[in-house]
Parts: sequence; structure tokens; C-alpha cells
Amino acid sequence: MGAQLYFDNYSPVGDLLVVAMSFVILVLLSTSYVNKTKVYGVYVNIVVCLFLAAITDVFHHNLFTQITDGDYRVIYVLRIVYHAILFSNLFLYVIYAIEVMRLERNKKVPIVTVAAVLYLAVIAADVITDALGKGFRINEYGRSVTGINVYFYGYLLFDGLIIAVLVIFRKRIYKRIMMGFYGTIAISFLILYLQGKHGNVSFTVGSFLLPTVTMLYLIHANPYDIEIGSINAKALEDMVSHNYKKGIDMILMSLYLPEFDVDGRTFTRDLQDAIRRFASVYFREGVLFQISNGHMVLVAKKNKNQGHQQKMKAMIEAFYVEYDKFRYNYKIVMGEAIDEISRKNEYVRFIKSIHQHMEMNEVHVIKDKDVEEFEEYEFLLAELSDVCQKGDLRDKRVLAYCQPVYNLKTKKYDTAEALMRLNLPGKGIIYPDQFIPIAEENGFIHGLTKIILQKTCDEIEKLIREGYEVNRVSVNVSITEWHDAGFTDDIFEIIRSSAVPDEKIAIEITESQTEQDFVVVKKKINELKERGIKFYLDDFGTGYSNVERILELPFDIIKFDRSLVNATEDNARSEKMVGSLANMFSELNYSVLYEGVETDGDERRCADMYATYLQGYKYSRPVPIAELPNFFSKLAQSWRRLRFIV
Ligand code: C2E
Ligand code: CA
Ligand code: CA
Repeated sequence: MGAQLYFDNYSPVGDLLVVAMSFVILVLLSTSYVNKTKVYGVYVNIVVCLFLAAITDVFHHNLFTQITDGDYRVIYVLRIVYHAILFSNLFLYVIYAIEVMRLERNKKVPIVTVAAVLYLAVIAADVITDALGKGFRINEYGRSVTGINVYFYGYLLFDGLIIAVLVIFRKRIYKRIMMGFYGTIAISFLILYLQGKHGNVSFTVGSFLLPTVTMLYLIHANPYDIEIGSINAKALEDMVSHNYKKGIDMILMSLYLPEFDVDGRTFTRDLQDAIRRFASVYFREGVLFQISNGHMVLVAKKNKNQGHQQKMKAMIEAFYVEYDKFRYNYKIVMGEAIDEISRKNEYVRFIKSIHQHMEMNEVHVIKDKDVEEFEEYEFLLAELSDVCQKGDLRDKRVLAYCQPVYNLKTKKYDTAEALMRLNLPGKGIIYPDQFIPIAEENGFIHGLTKIILQKTCDEIEKLIREGYEVNRVSVNVSITEWHDAGFTDDIFEIIRSSAVPDEKIAIEITESQTEQDFVVVKKKINELKERGIKFYLDDFGTGYSNVERILELPFDIIKFDRSLVNATEDNARSEKMVGSLANMFSELNYSVLYEGVETDGDERRCADMYATYLQGYKYSRPVPIAELPNFFSKLAQSWRRLRFIV
């Protein structure tokens, strides 16, 4: 509307502030461990655009006062460039929004097309209206005159597009983050409104700054944990993919403290200090990532750390000194990054697969062979996941083996323990030590237990139908699966849907290591017990036994571990001790079972040590469950007939 004096209504403060702020943002981004994702790339471009827009704006206003010869062409050009940069900025906001919302390709394409067409159309219109003298022009008095304000309409259309995308796909983004965006967009409008009202143009670029600051805070916030100086697992993936693409070799050091790897446990102050110190002293530009409560990974660039082998050695030596203070169990994995693993970006799982092959309190240096083992691990994990997902209780890949148990009192085999094996395509039989820990750690164990229980019920049903005398078969259950919400219901459901009486099933559990586990087990064990299911305490004598806790749970049978049987060989004192323990349990009405009975000598000693049941290679190795009839005896004919009559 009408002519206006250009420089009167413009002051460079707004633009200079934008220049300074975008510079600060770029510095912040480069010094913090912001995830280097695609969205991040778009974001950096947005900030650069702002920076350029502000600078062009300052220039073209300045030129205005300096040109005296009446040749204003450069101003026209700069003004178009300035608008083009602002529209590029708006275009990038659109791209940013669709990336942040993770829109699928078929949704992205139309939006990007509309934005691109709008972008080109607006710039073309800006050029054409100016060329025709209908848009912006400088009159003979050196004053600017705005005709058709293409920029203004373009701005409205672009904002309309952005807001439409945000509103239509609002479900794609966490609501509070969305509110943050809406809020800042509103404030940007307010600024534009106010400056328009006062006929000012100083804060146009400034109004673009606000959403950028919001994005920095809400989306690219620094995932930095000041207490130990680490950042999270997602950031590790981003760093690995970034370095891999740039061909930067890395070295890794992983520290795993299993005692801390439970929810809610945090490092003590001293431990925090030690970790922070370790992460910063030995390696230049090392970045510490926290994978889980008890698992940290330090990554550094190889070229920045000449002689890294010596450094690692020094670090481990210092670690041992530190270890003497803390004495927490650990597993350390260190070495150079492996291309194959970097490409797949799977260090966390890779390290976990190495843990499977390590003893506690060991240091492992990464070797090529670890990759092979990792592939095995991945294969197993995929199969276990598939078994659980399919949920077929008679899955052919899970085999139920059984080890018959000899009853010293009746001199018969009338119970057995079910033991799991896997039979995977192309791999043959796989034994429990190779997959049980993996299944436990990854939440697949309960799915496997259900299958073993189903197959055990099937077999007991068959044995009973064929007239065999079966007292019960015990099934192993891991402590981790007791925490599954549906645990007791699942067990009931499987037993109920078969024709097997509840008391023919027993569950073997080991002693709980934590108070938490104990509380859960205690509650659920009573529910199961009420239905008649029997309970065995497995592996008694390994680790620290808490007799008070054992007595608090309604066990029927205490299984003395093989190590106790071995300890009593040629050792009278041990025999006395184990014997008195067994005596105590039997006086408290528990039955005692000895595991790992291999020789006649073992059998004799166990018989003297209050045994009711004996289990071990002396009697049989675990056999496929279908072979149990070879051990069990048939009920007397008359009894069978009687049963049918009744
Ligand atoms: P466990 O429950 O203590 O099972 C006894 C293990 O000792 C079995 O090993 C068995 O084959 C072995 N064994 C039996 N008699 C003798 C003997 O005389 N001498 C020696 N040296 N060993 C003997 P297996 O089948 O390899 O199972 C190993 C462990 O894997 C089991 O120890 C149990 O903790 C776990 N496991 C097996 N099946 C299952 C299952 O279905 N569910 C769960 N959660 N764990 C299972
Ligand atoms: Ca067992
Ligand atoms: Ca055992």
C-alpha cells in the first residue's frame, strides 16, 4: 500500500540476532552428540538457510542506502535471492515435518510434489511481477513501492501446507512435542503481525528462528547423561553408521556389569566417577554410550588414537586396580570395529553374543571368529523368536528329552525330568547350554517352556493310556519367566486341556537370587501348589543357599546338585556334611534326589545319604521322551482292569 521509505522501517538488529543465533546453534550441534540422522541433515540445512537469509537481508537493505547512480538492479536480484532462501527454508520445514513423522513413501511423494511446485511457482511469480513492474519497485525518488506482494501470499500458502501436514499426521508425533510446534508457530505469526502493524520489516527472518530453536530442543536434544558422561544406545547406532559411511575406523570397549543390569539400579557415586574418568583419560575423543543400566560402550576413532593396543592394555591394568575396590562381576569386550558388524550396525547384539561365550570376570579381545559365532547367535535368535511367535505348542523344532529317575524306595523308575533340545534346520541337535541363556535374556524362554510342558503332557497321557505307572514328570522353569504376567494361567491352561491330572506334573526351579524374584515366586508357587502341581528345588548346593528362604517355599523334592555328589567321593567329611543336610531335609518331610549319579560308588554313597531318588548317567542319559516306556513298568493287569471297572 503506497510508497514507504525503505531504510526507515528496517533495522539490522533482527537479522544480526539471527546470524548470531544460527551460528550458536551450529556450534552446539557440532559439540554435542546429537543423533546424526536424516532429520538432522535437514535441520542443519534449515539453520544454514536462516543464516544466509539474514545475511542477504542485511546486505540488500544496506545497498539501498549506498546506491546513488540510480542503478538498482543488484537490489532487485538480491531481493529475489532473499525470498528464494526464505522459501527454501519453508520448503525444508515441509521436508523436516514429513521426516520427523516418518511418513511412508506414498504419503511423502505428493506432499513433496506440492511443496516443490509451490516453491517454483512462488519464485517465478515473484520474478515476473517485479519484471512487469507490478510487484516490488523503486521509484524515481529512490523509494521502494510494494505492488502485488507475492512473498506474502507465498508465505501464507507454504504455512498453510506445513500446518495442514502437521494437523493431518498429528498422530505420528508425541503430543507434547506437537504442542511445542503449534505454540512456536503461533508466536512466529504474532511477531509478523506486530511488525506488519508497525510497518516494520526487521524481524521477518527472526520469525523463522523460533521454530528452529524448538526443533533443536524437542527433537535434537542432547541425550547426554551428566552423571557418568554417557549417551544412549540409539546414538551409538548413529555414530557407527556415520563413521562407517565416512570410512572412519573405530575402536570399541565394552564394560558389562550384570549386577547393575536390572531396572532401576544405578551406579554408586564412586563408580560413576571411575567410569567418567576411564572414558576420558585413555582415549582421545572417546564417546561413552550407555546401552542399558549395567552396560557401557566406549567408542573412539582409530586414527586419533595411535598405539591403541597399548592404551587398552593400560586401561585394563588400571581397571584391575579399580576392580579391587568395587568387586562387581564384569565382562569386558574390546578391540577394533569389524566392517561386517559396522555395516549391519549391530554392535550391541554382537557384544551380547560374545558375552555368551565368555566366563564372568574376563576380558575378551574382538576376533574375526566372533563374527561367525555372532551369525550362529543371530540364527538361533531368529529361530527362537519364530518359535515363540508362531506359538505352536507342538513345534517340531523344540524336542522334549527325558531322563528317567530311579526311585530307591520302590526300586523302579516312576518319575522323570523333561529336558529341552532344539532341532533346527541344517544344525542338528542343539543342547541347552547353547540356547537357554539366549532364550532367557531375550524373553523367549516362556514360549519354550510351554512347548515342553505340552509335549510332556502328551507323553504322560499316552503312558497312562497304555497302562504305565507314572508318578510324575518334572519340567524346568527359569526364574525369568515367573515374571511373565500370564505365567500361572499358561501352565494351568496346558495341563487342563490335556487329560493329565495336575499332580503328575512337577516344576523344577532354582533358588532365587534376589528378593524381587523370591516374592514373585512365592506368590505364584502357592497358586500352582493349590492345584496339586509338585515343586522341586533344582541345583541345591550350587552358589549360596538360603535355607530360610527354601523352607518358606512349599517344595516337595530337594535336588542335590551333582557337585555335592562329586564332593563326597573319597571325602568322609564332605559325606558327613552332605548326609546331615539331606537328613535335615528328609526329617522336614522333603524327599531328597541326587543328580549326576554316574557310578556304583556314587549310588552307594547317595543311598547312605538319605536318598529317595537317584538321577544320572548310571541309569540313563536323557533320551527322547517317546522312549520313556522302556524304563517305566506297567501296572499289574488286575489293577488295570479294576480301574476300568471303576
Ligand atoms: P539341570 O536342570 O540341572 O539338568 C540336568 C543336567 O545334567 C542335564 O543336562 C542332564 O543331561 C545332565 N546330567 C544328567 N545326568 C548326568 C550325569 O550323570 N552326569 C553329568 N555330567 N550330567 C548329567 P542338559 O540336558 O544339558 O541340561 C542342562 C541345563 O539346561 C539343565 O540343567 C537346565 O538348567 C537347563 N534346561 C534343560 N532343559 C530345560 C528346559 O526345558 N527349560 C529350562 N528353563 N531349562 C532347561
Ligand atoms: Ca533340572
Ligand atoms: Ca539340576
